[in-house]
Amino acid sequence: RIVYVNGAYLPEEEATISIFDRGFIFGDGIYEVSAVLGGKLVDCEAHLARLERSAGEIGLELPCSRAELVAIHQELISRNNLDEGSIYLQVSRGAADRDFPFPKGVKASLVLFTQARQFANTPLAKTGIKVVSTPDLRWARRDIKSVNLLAPVLAKQFAAENGAQEAWMIEDGVVTEGASSTAWIVKGKTLISRPLSHKVLPGITRTAVLAFLAESGFTFEEREFTLEEALDAEEAFITSATSLVMPVTTIDGHSIHNGAPGPATIRLREIYLDHARKGGVL
Ligand code: PMP
Repeated sequence: RIVYVNGAYLPEEEATISIFDRGFIFGDGIYEVSAVLGGKLVDCEAHLARLERSAGEIGLELPCSRAELVAIHQELISRNNLDEGSIYLQVSRGAADRDFPFPKGVKASLVLFTQARQFANTPLAKTGIKVVSTPDLRWARRDIKSVNLLAPVLAKQFAAENGAQEAWMIEDGVVTEGASSTAWIVKGKTLISRPLSHKVLPGITRTAVLAFLAESGFTFEEREFTLEEALDAEEAFITSATSLVMPVTTIDGHSIHNGAPGPATIRLREIYLDHARKGGVL
């Protein structure tokens, strides 16, 4: 695999980052994950807009322009012959001797790599995924896509140990979001997901689903929901760049929609896949 690190395209074995990199030492960095389908980037501009916002919120100057970032994505797709998979991008506040305040005159580190994976035709889309609930242990600015992912790592490990693929995090009696996805429930023709705030990451796939709402024939109710309401919902699903729209068929061992993907989720996944194959909606 050819990866990108600070201006160079290198075989992954040759790519290195300083041990003093602030992403490594402090988790002082941000990231994005975008999907590639049929060799095309999906909703790339929206992901880069969110990256720019995350950078602004932590006072980090990106080392290159949006156009240059798009070009690096394209170059990696082509050098790796990537047809389907994801691209991970990380920017950290660079390498400097360990000291908390921002270092002066240090350039941000930029790393990108591809991961080939089949997510459009994954068998999980047919069976749905299992979700377990867990307390939300994250910090107070989850709208920033920070590389500090210890709480989501622990939540996903808890899910894995319980035979589940995702954890829904609970705070103040309501579901915040998945460890790496937006949480939704369905009632009739209504899709329900919580409002954006500092408590959740503004999902790009969430915005995409809302962009084709009229076309899909659903309405949106933007509000919080409890775990009990989710257990009782007609359908539940998650969205993210790499899960697309993924049915949730079990929550804490309770079957949702009799343990099979529901019609609303199946329809939304189809519509999103159609758009995604053309490069996205945003
Ligand atoms: N919430 C969290 C905490 C996430 O990590 C992700 C995945 N990036 C999402 C939501 C979904 O965001 P997106 O649709 O942009 O992938």
